[in-house]
Amino acid sequence: MKLKKRAALTRFLTIRPRDAVCDLYFPESIDDLVRFTVLERDYLLLGGGSNIIAGAVRKPVITFALLEGSSVTEDIDRRQVAVSMPAWTRTGALVDYLVANGLSGLEFMAGIPGTVGGAIVGNAAPKGHSWEGVVRKVIYVKEGSVLSAEPRFAYRRTLDMPEPPYILLAAEIVLTKDTVAKVRGRVKGFLKQRLAVPYPSAGSLFKNPERSSAGELLETAGCKGLAVGDAALYEKHANIVVNRGDAAYADFVALRDEAIARVKKMHGVQLEPEVKFWQ
Ligand SMILES: Cc1cc2nc3c(=O)[nH]c(=O)nc-3n(C[C@H](O)[C@H](O)[C@H](O)COP(=O)(O)OP(=O)(O)OC[C@H]3O[C@@H](n4cnc5c(N)ncnc54)[C@H](O)[C@@H]3O)c2cc1C
Repeated sequence: MKLKKRAALTRFLTIRPRDAVCDLYFPESIDDLVRFTVLERDYLLLGGGSNIIAGAVRKPVITFALLEGSSVTEDIDRRQVAVSMPAWTRTGALVDYLVANGLSGLEFMAGIPGTVGGAIVGNAAPKGHSWEGVVRKVIYVKEGSVLSAEPRFAYRRTLDMPEPPYILLAAEIVLTKDTVAKVRGRVKGFLKQRLAVPYPSAGSLFKNPERSSAGELLETAGCKGLAVGDAALYEKHANIVVNRGDAAYADFVALRDEAIARVKKMHGVQLEPEVKFWQ
């Protein structure tokens, strides 16, 4: 297994915080990865880095960057297939695969960055969609054991999984056979609804509180375009966190805390970050 001490993490994170560093482990096989979880009991797992803001990270970080593996698809019956997919598969590659093969069920992932593992762990989806009913089984590694689970899903989280840290290795996904044209049409529909963000971003900074929208609470509390240095809430959508140039970890922390304080003062609601802050 390769280890890079004090590795610059900036290029691994879509929001590009300028001072993100950590001790970064690169397993070269699944055995390496399993051994890592025996030796290190408190670590962080880096997927596609699209929902993380990091500074100088104290815990060791493990990445899938050197692992390889491809999906295996099997017919279940005339209507459905089961696809076993490595967790490090990019969501873009997943959507391309759906379109190329006329397979339906996850078209809503079009335009959402990251990996399949990160998406499952956080139940990533546009509003009103979920991985529930699509994921039949996941394989994960915890403290040296390779285990499986059949998770259910809730808003931005997976149920029936152990406490982190664990490493989701692969998922068995059930998709429905359809025509290439119909799947492509739905993918295009989802892409059309996405807001183009012209800066490095980590997506939504906060989770939506029950029965309200974090974006609306932030907007009415005067947070649209709020900035600390180059860390900002996007001027066209108050819940989208962006890096306008050279933002550091502390800028994002101060921005988060200021937004939480403003919403608490104006609405009495405590916002909870969706983005993971690593230091
Ligand atoms: C422009 C933009 C738009 C976005 N739009 C949306 C959206 O519409 N809906 C939405 O829900 N999200 C959205 N996101 C957020 C993000 O893309 C998703 O949360 C994504 O699924 C995160 O996947 P990742 O692989 O990048 O995870 P990372 O950011 O690498 O990790 C996120 C968390 O998941 C954990 N994790 C990742 N992979 C694994 C694994 N294999 N095993 C165990 N733990 C793991 C990490 O340890 C970390 O705690 C957006 C982000 C951006 C930048």
